[in-house]
Amino acid sequence: MWRYWLSLVTLALSGLPVVAHEQRPNIVILLADDLGYGDPSCYGNTQIRTPHIDQLAREGTRFTSFYVSQPVCTASRASLLTGCYANRISMSGALNHLSKVGIHPQEQMLQELLKARGYATACYGKWHLGDRPPFQPTRRGFDDFAGIPYSNDNGPLHPTMPGLPPLPFYRGEKIIEKDPDQAKFTRRFTDLAVEFIAQHQHEPFFLYVPHVMPHVPIFASEAFRGRSKAGLYGDVVEELDAGIGEVLAALRRYNLEKNTLVIFLSDNGPFLSYGTHAGSAGPLREGKLTTFEGGVRVPCVMRWPGKIPAHRICDEPLMTIDLLPTLCQLAGAPLPRRPIDGKDIAPVLFGDKNAHTPHNAYFFYAGDELHAVRSGKWKLHLPHEYLTVNGPTRTDGKPANHGQQKPEAMTSSGLRGIASRHGYKVEKIELSLYNLETDIGETTNVAAKHPDVVQRLLTLVEAARREWGDSLTNTQGQAVRPCGVSE
Ligand code: MG
Repeated sequence: MWRYWLSLVTLALSGLPVVAHEQRPNIVILLADDLGYGDPSCYGNTQIRTPHIDQLAREGTRFTSFYVSQPVCTASRASLLTGCYANRISMSGALNHLSKVGIHPQEQMLQELLKARGYATACYGKWHLGDRPPFQPTRRGFDDFAGIPYSNDNGPLHPTMPGLPPLPFYRGEKIIEKDPDQAKFTRRFTDLAVEFIAQHQHEPFFLYVPHVMPHVPIFASEAFRGRSKAGLYGDVVEELDAGIGEVLAALRRYNLEKNTLVIFLSDNGPFLSYGTHAGSAGPLREGKLTTFEGGVRVPCVMRWPGKIPAHRICDEPLMTIDLLPTLCQLAGAPLPRRPIDGKDIAPVLFGDKNAHTPHNAYFFYAGDELHAVRSGKWKLHLPHEYLTVNGPTRTDGKPANHGQQKPEAMTSSGLRGIASRHGYKVEKIELSLYNLETDIGETTNVAAKHPDVVQRLLTLVEAARREWGDSLTNTQGQAVRPCGVSE
């Protein structure tokens, strides 16, 4: 710990990054797609075995109030890699093969900052931050990339939308396959990750593995099919866990465990309308696409032997926006030139006495709508519409209510368009205050009992609206910057 503070002090005095080469930690981020808060066994699942995620939790810290900024793939990843609320950089929602946008070239991303500090960098999995050339991973700081540019349902295997073009698989900037065998995804990304570690064992590296699974449509390789007690979904998660185990084994093999910070988390909550092909949010309300806890609170474990305490559970609220400033600090890399929203949470990760989240509050947007705010144990939902599963779910990988949609609804946009395509219906919530300490499932609105708390949170909401905007109140955010656009 003293070394960390000493390096901060020296950094401040000299204005130069001072972390010695051998002290710069390797950084490995393993990101699951749509994995629910209740899916890993260390988060209470009794049907799915995740011994390697559990091992990370035992050898490090398990975070129980770790948030993503938005409950959907693109926006969540944008925050993870820029340290900004997705709304600040105009990257809400989820991109598809028709999207012409991506992270603006002026935004400095985590991998670019680390690369400039001498890190070898690679991304294996699902990118989802723009598939046009200027936005591709290898133009944005990754030395190597293999994987898909957007979601795995963005192709002929989409569960409800026929006629989508083939799903491309890239190596670098070249499409090397179309409609790859999705049952091999987890194996492929694991092999690439292990190979990368072997190749770069003698220099600092940043390895980002945004796995495609368990986003629908789900697939497990033959070796894992039928192995779990939770059907195909369980098989898929167990294979993902085994892949994580192989990455951990590689770190051990090359004696890199001690100097490597490993972070495992999910990009958003489970896609509940897909029934047995979706995960579980455990005790949390709702899932993906909603700003209830089930959509934005994710499983997250971190290990860095000797730095991050082992056998610890940390319930302090934290968010992905905080990873970039924290990791840059640890690597001796400068922060981005443009303002960001995240803050250094190293003291919380390291278990320093009395360390708390450096934020007054975290804000939850769905697209451009500001839905909720969390401060301490309180979460306030502003009046908003949200998606909830429309009727009984299924076991065949199709969403609830499949086949019942009116064709014209398929063409509508926004919440209602998503609802009709993915088996949801739209509901409304009024101004509601929840005490997450006693009511993690957001079941009992206590706004009437705590008008002072509501007032305090509404003041924070006003400030957030002025900063990042809010389409529900037609507020333009003064901090909002444009995304990149390319033909
Ligand atoms: Mg996702």
